[in-house]
Amino acid sequence: MRLSEFVRSKGASALATTFLVVWSILANAHAEEPQTSSAKTSDKIERRPSVALITLDGLPATFLRDPGVSLPNLRKLAARGVAAEGMTVSNPSVTWPNHTTLITGLHPATHGVLFNGILSKPGLGLPPKTDPKQDGRALVAVPTLFDFAKEAGLSTAGINWPCTRNTASVDDNMPDVPEFFLNSSPRLLEELKASGVLTDELIANFYKYSGTVRDDMWAAAAVHVIRERMPQFMAIHLLNVDGTHHKYGPRTPGGDAAVAYIDTCLGRIIDAIEASGNGANTTIIVTADHGFIAIPQTIRPNVKFKEAGLLTMAGNRVESARVYAIPEGGIAMVYLTVPDTKAQDREKVVELFKDHTGIAAIVQPAEYAALGLPDPADNPAMADLILVAKDGYGMSAIATGDEVVVASDTTLGTHGFLSTNPKMNAILVMAGRGIQPGAKLGNEKTPGIVRNVDVAPTIARLLGIKLPQTDGRVLEEALQTLTP
Ligand SMILES: [Zn+2]
Repeated sequence: MRLSEFVRSKGASALATTFLVVWSILANAHAEEPQTSSAKTSDKIERRPSVALITLDGLPATFLRDPGVSLPNLRKLAARGVAAEGMTVSNPSVTWPNHTTLITGLHPATHGVLFNGILSKPGLGLPPKTDPKQDGRALVAVPTLFDFAKEAGLSTAGINWPCTRNTASVDDNMPDVPEFFLNSSPRLLEELKASGVLTDELIANFYKYSGTVRDDMWAAAAVHVIRERMPQFMAIHLLNVDGTHHKYGPRTPGGDAAVAYIDTCLGRIIDAIEASGNGANTTIIVTADHGFIAIPQTIRPNVKFKEAGLLTMAGNRVESARVYAIPEGGIAMVYLTVPDTKAQDREKVVELFKDHTGIAAIVQPAEYAALGLPDPADNPAMADLILVAKDGYGMSAIATGDEVVVASDTTLGTHGFLSTNPKMNAILVMAGRGIQPGAKLGNEKTPGIVRNVDVAPTIARLLGIKLPQTDGRVLEEALQTLTP
């Protein structure tokens, strides 16, 4: 199906250099949000069913009930709605594939997103690479909830949502992509400039500042859109817990502080929804894309391939690679780049890693379908083999040096492990319109546990729109009888 949103919207690069307003909300997370043009949002917002889907990237399922973790706003929301014990996620358990699952109800085998970007293969014997600077339409092979909502005439917004660059079905769009300000909706950028949320200075230094500054801006942008237009379907992605967990690991002082801060950002968004005048008609769904695991050790498969003569270096650069590993946290996607030697290279990789320190499993293509992953014959970006790390080990692309297993230095936590690992389970809390307070999620087989593919069909039901294809189910056990 070709929908109207396939049409690319115009870029906003001209606007990106015109922002001169002082940004002043960082000092206090509880400070009043920048004032918008309207005196009182509740006067102009039409009362209508709305869903706000908010992801707190990298928040493990166990945190909701962990008294050592500060999450007052999320727990308050859970107390007036429902909370899963855990939500299983998709393979690979990384950010963009799982965000896309949340808004399609499909695993990556069908929606096609396998990395935080698109994989390209430069040629025979050369290492593949991934590029995040891509349009949503090039990344995602199927229509999303944004598309179906737009087709049904609903208003939409995406704040820091992955795989949405130049997606016309997102009315207010600030995509999760490098240089987001070049690809955000011009109207939204102008308004954020006028209200002081965005400045030239912030844009110039956005990626130099800490993740708290970025989450602060995305939260302020979300609050602005809610106040101005209260979209009927809105997806918001906050990211600093993930970045901090990567750096320090989960349940560390740094990680705990990031969680506490993201909860204040969540509180600002919930407050804005309540103040919009449409709070009673809005369902708030807070979830995540994956959990986290501490990784004291790191495995460098490309060093092993170099030792075996399958990869060569020119200085610090990989010059050629018959075999090359692209890490996705706890797994490495392994590519066999020369067709003539593919069979023998496959055997060689198995021989090199089958009893290797830190390796839990080597996954062959015959097992991909059961993991929700595509066959390489159907999706050329899919790896020829997957190396799975043991708990406590992460994967790295580094090919220099001669040590295959090293003590982790700059990255002490990761995700990407197979989704059957319960530590990859994400949080899921739902409250508001249509949600039965205190309902028990899950079924007899898996009490308390739901799947990330269930989120999109549940949102579709709440919004009264059709989702023609899904790997999940509507979470009926959590829903009240809805009146249109
Ligand atoms: Zn993530």
